[in-house]
Amino acid sequence: MKCMFCKIVNREISSEIIYEDDKIMAFYDINPQAPVHVLVIPRKHIASIAELEEDDRAVMGHLMVKIPEFIISLGLAGRGVRIVNNCLAEAGQSVFHIHFHVLGGRTFGWPPG
Ligand code: 5GP
Ligand code: ZN
Repeated sequence: MKCMFCKIVNREISSEIIYEDDKIMAFYDINPQAPVHVLVIPRKHIASIAELEEDDRAVMGHLMVKIPEFIISLGLAGRGVRIVNNCLAEAGQSVFHIHFHVLGGRTFGWPPG
């Protein structure tokens, strides 16, 4: 069965997209864990950070540098933001297409559970 986030990229399932370009997409998490909870993904299917390759450098660099723009557009400028990647099942990854959680609008504890 095809990956859920590839289906979002291909508009086979709907999501609340806040940004997309030729390399990445950002959309609201369906089960938010904070007042603001957005997922940022590469369009390319890469299962996890553990599987990144040299060829992915440009896409992943682009993805990271876009996050501060999303922080501003989401009304979180100057606020604390928790940016999370769960890499592989033991760390809590449940969708095996790289995604960064961008969470904001509340205080976060450390260490995470
Ligand atoms: P993970 O557990 O892999 O770090 O995070 C997966 C995230 O994807 C979860 O926060 C979950 O709520 C979200 N998610 C799973 N399926 C969908 C979906 O179909 N649409 C959206 N917008 N988010 C999803
Ligand atoms: Zn995928």
